[in-house]
Amino acid sequence: MLQLVPNLQRLGTETAFEVLARAADLQRQGKDIINLGIGQPDFKTPGHIVEAAVKALRDGHHGYTPAQGILPLREAVARDLARRHGVEVHPDTIVIMPGGKPTMFFSILMFGHPGAEIMYPDPGFPIYRSMIQYTGAKPVPIVQNEDNQFSFTAEQVLSQITPKTSLIILNSPGNPCGGAAAKEEIEKLVAGLALHPDVAVMSDEIYSQMLYGGRKHESFLRYPEIRDRLILLDGWSKTYAMTGWRLGFSVWPKSLVDHVVRLAVNCHSCVNAPAQFAGIAALEGPQDEVVKMVQAFDERRRTIVPLLNQLPGFRCLDPGGAFYVFPNITGTGMDARELQNRMLEQAGVATVAGTSFGIHGEGFIRFSYANSVENIREAIKRVAALLRD
Ligand code: PLP
Repeated sequence: MLQLVPNLQRLGTETAFEVLARAADLQRQGKDIINLGIGQPDFKTPGHIVEAAVKALRDGHHGYTPAQGILPLREAVARDLARRHGVEVHPDTIVIMPGGKPTMFFSILMFGHPGAEIMYPDPGFPIYRSMIQYTGAKPVPIVQNEDNQFSFTAEQVLSQITPKTSLIILNSPGNPCGGAAAKEEIEKLVAGLALHPDVAVMSDEIYSQMLYGGRKHESFLRYPEIRDRLILLDGWSKTYAMTGWRLGFSVWPKSLVDHVVRLAVNCHSCVNAPAQFAGIAALEGPQDEVVKMVQAFDERRRTIVPLLNQLPGFRCLDPGGAFYVFPNITGTGMDARELQNRMLEQAGVATVAGTSFGIHGEGFIRFSYANSVENIREAIKRVAALLRD
């Protein structure tokens, strides 16, 4: 018997990838599948960003870079944060990562141990809970539902803090529900955290540029009171359609920078050099393609929400962020997994059951609208036919 560490048994996964694998199988068998399950933009990375990576390779940037990321990229990130959030961030506190995920991985490793409690959104990005369990810490859900517009209230978070709470994970705009935290709740939460100076916050703002209907993103970075315990996660994956490049960044409290850089050195050494040059081009170059992509998502959101609300047994809020909607499907009489499977197998529409994002996701299905308006209309037509049968 191999003597594996027991923690491995507690490590979860992203079941969204299983749905995608099954959808790909069905496609190989010749079935016509519309994919509303995928959590990535359906656009290509803008051309000038690709060219910057090609140029970096041609210019000979083939070697290791500093573990924290190349300075020009960290400076570009600092300028981007100043532009978007009106906040000054020193490049020494910015760490370039291979995607958004390593920031959550490392912060949960830093704060998770048996005896600690870590709060996380449920339904939420599945890796939060998976990693919390891996470390042996107790996962404490922040329940997101229709009553709180799929976000959190300050009261809900503050009331669950105990002396064991080491980290609070928040995600706005959020996956899978598309919820966006209200500014008043963020203000109240930050004020309440003054009573809990030993609790760290990891704010996952990877969808920060995807808000619709006049909503504005409120970054936790704007609150100097918590900067000494705030980890901000952001990156290029969603905003610039760069999920496959594996490029992200995070902002750390000064006291944690050495720790996270040591974790990075032990893990991945550094992020690949051409991707970092591409990251500079993305931040410093024209933003019109980002604007166009967000406008396209907005049009799709305005298409899908009313269509879902017309389906029998469906009720869909429009929380207005990211590129997901999370309709309540309890009126169909099916549970989330059954409806997900029937939509895929019988109607050729890939979606993800809410239970893939936590136990509080039962009764909901995640639809990603990172697909064309035409495909969205056809997919909902097929689901309507399925529900009629
Ligand atoms: N955070 C959230 C909330 C996400 O939905 C995702 C990806 O789906 C990530 C982080 C991970 O992003 P990346 O692909 O850059 O690792």
